Amino acid sequence: MRVPFFDLSRQYVAIKSEIDAAIASCFEQSVFIGGESVEKFEHEFADFVGVPHAVSCANGTDALEMALIAAEIKPGDEVIVPACTWTSTAEAVHNVGATIVFADVDPKRYTMDVTDLRRKITPKTKAILPVHLYGLMADMPAIMTLAKEKSLIVIEDCAQAHGASINGKPAGSWGHLGCFSFYPTKNLGAYGDAGAIVTKDDTLATTVREIANHGQRSKNEHVRIGRNSRLDSIQAAVLCVKLKHLENWTKRRIEIAQEYTSALKNIVQTPEVPDPYRHVFHLYVIQSEQAESIRRKLDERSVGIAEHYPNPLPFLPAYSFLQHYENNFPIAAHQKGKLISLPVFPELTNDEVRYVIDSIKK
Ligand SMILES: *Cc1c(COP(=O)(O)O)cnc(C)c1O
Repeated sequence: MRVPFFDLSRQYVAIKSEIDAAIASCFEQSVFIGGESVEKFEHEFADFVGVPHAVSCANGTDALEMALIAAEIKPGDEVIVPACTWTSTAEAVHNVGATIVFADVDPKRYTMDVTDLRRKITPKTKAILPVHLYGLMADMPAIMTLAKEKSLIVIEDCAQAHGASINGKPAGSWGHLGCFSFYPTKNLGAYGDAGAIVTKDDTLATTVREIANHGQRSKNEHVRIGRNSRLDSIQAAVLCVKLKHLENWTKRRIEIAQEYTSALKNIVQTPEVPDPYRHVFHLYVIQSEQAESIRRKLDERSVGIAEHYPNPLPFLPAYSFLQHYENNFPIAAHQKGKLISLPVFPELTNDEVRYVIDSIKK
């Protein structure tokens, strides 16, 4: 048997008629930027997150950058991000001219460690940018309490957490702003780049919308210098179709994860799911001292695996100017080389899941 780490073509086969019809309708209307499908997706996605506003944009990295600009984060301001995340989170902070401050992560949850976060707050700290990594939300109750106490802005990086929640309250509805990516391989993915910013705040929503559309408030009324970061109508149409299936897909991800966890929890460190949390398993990541030999075995048995992410951000050449060493982030450093991402996507078959489990047991 050969088990792919990910196979998006299986999803297309399952929803082909809906997708083809949605795309054909865009061509018939010949509206390619903005229009009905973009407005429809924004409304439906805002409802999904449970907030009044969703502003679509070109990708998740732009969403983060524009959220920081709307929050008036400027050079000299410090923004705290977790040491373990995809590079966009820190990139966005640097690209608005602010200072990146890394916090170490929790050894079991992989999300930002709130004790270290508290330690990293200085008088220059302006915002916290927690990441809901792998599909598990950061400790938002604690982060929001701390943010309130210190008057800080909270921007959630929800790129891996569509549909995740704590106590039923969805990712993106906790902070001042929430940023989503619809990169094709995310839990909700377009057929190209796409992103969105969600917020409860009317003013922030208006500002983000202006930034994304050349600073225009209405046609030719440029009230600020903005940029071009728009969602294509075709991508919005695709996302409307896929959003209807997301809940079922998420349930299947959770089912696969439960299967893995019950079979593997005594062999490797399996993902922790704290009680009121809904983990949506964008990735299913195990940790083991024997990662090297597990990887070799899985490779031998043609099981596709990945590593997210081989090197925590503070130790990457891109961030070397911050002069961080492994002892500054002991938890992140300790995980290096020990993480393995197993195949987890809704179309994975039960036979494939069992084959992955057998291979690890071997
Ligand atoms: C994918 C991702 C992003 C960026 O999304 P793009 O749409 O690829 O720009 C940001 N943060 C995290 C944690 C991600 O996984």
